[in-house]
Amino acid sequence: MSGGPAAVVEFDAVSKTYPGGVAAVRDVRLRIERGELVAIVGPSGSGKSTVLNLMGSLDRPSSGRVLVDGHDVARLSDREVSALRATRIGFVFQQFHLAVGVPVLDSVADGLLYAGVPMRRRRAKAAAALERVGLSHRVHHLPHQLSGGERQRVAVARAVVGSPSVLLADEPTGNLDSASGAAVLTLLRELNASGTTVVIITHDREIAAELPRRIEMRDGRLVTDSARSTTIGAPR
Ligand code: ADP
Repeated sequence: MSGGPAAVVEFDAVSKTYPGGVAAVRDVRLRIERGELVAIVGPSGSGKSTVLNLMGSLDRPSSGRVLVDGHDVARLSDREVSALRATRIGFVFQQFHLAVGVPVLDSVADGLLYAGVPMRRRRAKAAAALERVGLSHRVHHLPHQLSGGERQRVAVARAVVGSPSVLLADEPTGNLDSASGAAVLTLLRELNASGTTVVIITHDREIAAELPRRIEMRDGRLVTDSARSTTIGAPR
């Protein structure tokens, strides 16, 4: 590690090659500090989701090191990786991934299942998280009774219910109309303003332009990082 307090996420020369030889991520170096709000942009297939999955310990690098809150993911046991993911990382995806027929409150409470929180506390925390996303009036609804924007807010509540170190969102507005997408983005900004570190993959240039830091991927390489305010060099 490069001294000082641990970054929330640090990539040290990270590459990921899938079986069959696709180099999805090539030699990426970056640090995301506590409290940042970061957009990852780039064309389809440029490696954005792979980077997010590596940040979220859903995947392991082929080479290089990924550190989350200072923990080297490759050095942890499977059980420790599960614990890291359950307690320090929140995910939001383009598809909302809410279980059919499960009331909203329980879906959000389930976000704490693997963090070992007792059921009663899980429900109390879920109610508080739903209040944060403006859905206190929907806690007993089922997913199919909600709009797309509301479903995504439930997914955000589930992701933040355990107060993770970092919230990772992969095209969170991709399935929403522009008004609902804007509301979800506002919510992510509010969560960031109250201290959550947030990383958002987005195709939407307007969304990216509004965020304080933009990382641009191309062919698996990080080609620009507005935090460094320089172009990092053409692909070799
Ligand atoms: P993006 O999110 O920017 O669209 P991805 O990270 O999904 O890009 O993909 C980067 C590259 O890795 C693409 O060429 C993609 O086809 C490939 N890829 C992604 N996941 C897998 C996988 N599980 N197996 C093999 N190749 C993959």
